[in-house]
Amino acid sequence: MTFAIRVKPGTRVDLGSIDSSDNGGLTKKSGKERMELLALQLNDLQDTLYAAGQHGVLVVLQGMDTSGKDGTIRRVFRYIDPLGAKSWAFKVPTELELRHDFLWRIHDKVPERGMMTIFNRSHYEDVLVVRVNNLAPVDVWRSRYEHINAFERLLTESNTVVLKFFLHISPEEQRLRLLAREADVEKSWKLSVSDWAQRQSWPAYMEAYEDALSKCSTKQAPWHIVPADRKWFRDLAVAEAIVDALEPLKAGWIESLATLGVERRKELAEYRARGGES
Ligand code: ADP
Repeated sequence: MTFAIRVKPGTRVDLGSIDSSDNGGLTKKSGKERMELLALQLNDLQDTLYAAGQHGVLVVLQGMDTSGKDGTIRRVFRYIDPLGAKSWAFKVPTELELRHDFLWRIHDKVPERGMMTIFNRSHYEDVLVVRVNNLAPVDVWRSRYEHINAFERLLTESNTVVLKFFLHISPEEQRLRLLAREADVEKSWKLSVSDWAQRQSWPAYMEAYEDALSKCSTKQAPWHIVPADRKWFRDLAVAEAIVDALEPLKAGWIESLATLGVERRKELAEYRARGGES
């Protein structure tokens, strides 16, 4: 059973038809138990990924404000060794970044082989917030879907596993989360007037997301739609999709490590044959 909805390349996404409060028929308790196992499995996969150094893994998280991008990172990657993982949050571009092409700051942060990198927002902002808020001419953002597909193809053909997740919440759930933030003195620092102002553009954002998900889901770099009104289900769906994508690669990583082990033992045997300590 897969909980995240993988967008089939070439199909048209209709977000209105996808229930953001889906729980996959699970209880919260059983969902959390499954999540714990997946988090451990992911840790194990990341260890082998790091040691083998054959692939990089790039996880892209997108979603409206309060959709839970930060929380997903904290919970899904809870056991990951910080030595083998990095996470980047992409904010409003700096002046220097704006003087480059939109992918410049992104390409700089993609994972080298052996590493797992998580993007909190990404190059997709350049066809989302930029489109909705008219930050660039139509011709400019419209040409970006093709640039994105070409860029991601370059990554996947260079042994980077690219997995993209849209955390799908309802506008009502967002309203509740913003109000909860306001009521919590320790979380109020996260508030911004623009969170509420941007809600006026909800339909325009959904349209922009539908275009991005429809035009840029490819076999090699698929988009997943994650029902995210329930935090525990969101975490479970993301973790499961990552584990499912990496598990088939593990045998190859183990094989390369075994070959390496044989070479290292041979080198040691030769060292000892030359009189080295044993
Ligand atoms: P977050 O909401 O992710 O926790 P912030 O409150 O700092 O963090 O928001 C980051 C802001 O940067 C978001 O409003 C996002 O739309 C904006 N942003 C990110 N990338 C771009 C971009 N390429 N162009 C314009 N705005 C961007």
